[in-house]
Amino acid sequence: MDETTKIAVIGGGAAGLMAAGTAASLGADVTIFEHMQYVGRKIGITGKGRCNVTNACTLQEFMENVPRNPRFLYAALSALTPDDTMQFFESLGVKLKVERARRVFPESDKAATIVNALRKYTQGTKILQEKVTSVTKEEKGFIINGNDARIYDKVILATGGRSYPRTGSDGSGHRLARKLGHTVTPLSPSLVPLESPSPYCERMQGLSLKNVGIRIEKGGKLLYSDFGEMLFTHFGVSGPMILSASAHLSGESLDGVSLLIDFKSALDEKTLDARLISIFEKESNKDFANALSSLLPSTAIDVFIDASGIPPHKKVREITKEERRRLLSLLKSFCIPLSGFRPIEEAIITRGGIEVKEISPKTMESKICPGLYLAGEIIDVDAYTGGYNLQIAFSTGYLAGKSAAEY
Ligand SMILES: Cc1cc2nc3c(=O)[nH]c(=O)nc-3n(C[C@H](O)[C@H](O)[C@H](O)COP(=O)(O)OP(=O)(O)OC[C@H]3O[C@@H](n4cnc5c(N)ncnc54)[C@H](O)[C@@H]3O)c2cc1C
Repeated sequence: MDETTKIAVIGGGAAGLMAAGTAASLGADVTIFEHMQYVGRKIGITGKGRCNVTNACTLQEFMENVPRNPRFLYAALSALTPDDTMQFFESLGVKLKVERARRVFPESDKAATIVNALRKYTQGTKILQEKVTSVTKEEKGFIINGNDARIYDKVILATGGRSYPRTGSDGSGHRLARKLGHTVTPLSPSLVPLESPSPYCERMQGLSLKNVGIRIEKGGKLLYSDFGEMLFTHFGVSGPMILSASAHLSGESLDGVSLLIDFKSALDEKTLDARLISIFEKESNKDFANALSSLLPSTAIDVFIDASGIPPHKKVREITKEERRRLLSLLKSFCIPLSGFRPIEEAIITRGGIEVKEISPKTMESKICPGLYLAGEIIDVDAYTGGYNLQIAFSTGYLAGKSAAEY
């Protein structure tokens, strides 16, 4: 009798490829089911095509970047730490570099390098281009797509979340998990742009701000603050800081929530006021509309004129102290009301997924359906930007592959 463990891995993304390669390296007979033409489609678009593959941080720092169910991940992250992941890719010939905020990228600056390395790692597996629409558990094993000829001892479900469905993660895996008895917690977008009804966003669309401060408030209560980059779009706001903010706000109603932008975060109010006085003295004979170019990017000038209520053709020397204070207040605290999150399809990550209480954190095996293992974004865990989400996929994939092959 053939003693080799037959494992089906559903989903050829970061988690599935890591799980499949690991199980195969331990002697299992592994088949990957991937319905897209190529495996690793989503990895190919990560990090703006450069793939922020992990974060060179300690386990403690890692946990601080996981807002959802961090403790569940402890065993998986200990089994394959960020450091192990770096060594893993280096052993496959990928040179890596560490950038700002310990973000790790391939030296090639190409996500394809990571996809190719994972392909190499899964060379000992069989890849079937097939969408899995049913998984049933019978006494003799798991039957995939009702095809009795294909019986597997174990199944690793790694079909991802519901974000960016064009990369293959269309949520079909959640249905498979439900049919096998699992609970799927409500799904919502995280790391996603935010919408605003303010016409100013559309008027400033394309304007990218660097080194600005933001605060997000509701009824005067601070919900989030950050410093860095953001972008105006036709629907609202986006960019690194906004995506991070969305992860903090995820699942909440944005009714009454405002974004306050500090366009001049390097200057306190007193210093900025002195600067305004000096500019206004120098430009005293100019129209107000023509005196703002040293203060603001050109796309923002008209918006500031409107928002300040100061007539554009008013001579600078005629601007009152009260008007100057209004301008100062706009520069330090420009208010954009927020109305909602962009849809889950546009989110970097899906919040929610398979209930962690139903999975053994030490093996990634289902507590509901023995022989079934879960890995990656399909699980109800998610993290901030910085390489943490791929690391979660790699760690849970590694542990699922190892456990499925060994036990
Ligand atoms: C634009 C973007 C940029 C990102 N950048 C980064 C980054 O730089 N760093 C970072 O850490 N994270 C990043 N992320 C998040 C990261 O890509 C995901 O967290 C990670 O890819 C999840 O891996 P996964 O294997 O769980 O799911 P996925 O990568 O989504 O893989 C799931 C696979 O399953 C397949 N599949 C689904 N259903 C079926 C089915 N029924 N039958 C067969 N196959 C199926 C899909 O086709 C897919 O290939 C980014 C995400 C996006 C959208």
